[in-house]
Amino acid sequence: MSELVAHGSAGAHLLEESARLDSNPDGEVGSIISQAYARDASHFLLVPKEVHFPDSVEEVVRIFHLAKVTREPVTFRSGGSSLSGQGVTRATLLDTRKHFGRATVLDDGRRIRVEPGVTIRYANVLLQRYRNRLVPDPASEIACTMGGALANNSSGMTCGTEFNAYKRLESMVFVLPSGTVIDTSAPEARDRSVSRSRKSIVDFCP
Ligand SMILES: Cc1cc2nc3c(=O)[nH]c(=O)nc-3n(C[C@H](O)[C@H](O)[C@H](O)COP(=O)(O)OP(=O)(O)OC[C@H]3O[C@@H](n4cnc5c(N)ncnc54)[C@H](O)[C@@H]3O)c2cc1C
Repeated sequence: MSELVAHGSAGAHLLEESARLDSNPDGEVGSIISQAYARDASHFLLVPKEVHFPDSVEEVVRIFHLAKVTREPVTFRSGGSSLSGQGVTRATLLDTRKHFGRATVLDDGRRIRVEPGVTIRYANVLLQRYRNRLVPDPASEIACTMGGALANNSSGMTCGTEFNAYKRLESMVFVLPSGTVIDTSAPEARDRSVSRSRKSIVDFCP
């Protein structure tokens, strides 16, 4: 992608494509964006039909609802540093890096609240002044994000399996394929939301 930007007209084309995508709520994509998203760090090559850049939880819910109607799979994409093809698809790709990049340090650096597009490197920069850092510590920390690290249950050189991503997570807000939004810190999360959405998940799975 950077090579295209460096070469004048191709770079301009890419920027135009990007602007067009932003103004296109249906996420229709041209060939350059599709090709750019056809690879991650794995050896797989899958050209997505559509790439979306959702800017809110409501937008993610809307895309899930559309996918349910069309029965198209939806794949999330963040840093694209996964090694087994988790970040590529021939169907719909959702990139959460662009609009989910906020982070807030809490409790004098003992905790941090992050959106899924925040890279581990950026979170650690924020925590540095508190002499703290995140675990997990994957070697890809400059590119990989919290969304990808949590979905993969990432580990790292020093954290091993004792302090991997799942084990250091206090709570999470996430969207089920049914469109149900769950905040695991809410007292009722275990009971009402999950049981209500279970049927929809079963219905959705082919
Ligand atoms: C050089 C290199 C070194 C690495 N070192 C390590 C290491 O030391 N330890 C380790 O564990 N891994 C390592 N990895 C693997 C990889 O970097 C990690 O698994 C990383 O956490 C993936 O994050 P990402 O942001 O790149 O996610 P992506 O590759 O973009 O996506 C990973 C998965 O998460 C899903 N996902 C992404 N965003 C979201 C979201 N917002 N909501 C829901 N699901 C989402 C994707 O669909 C996909 O299934 C390494 C990879 C490379 C290339």
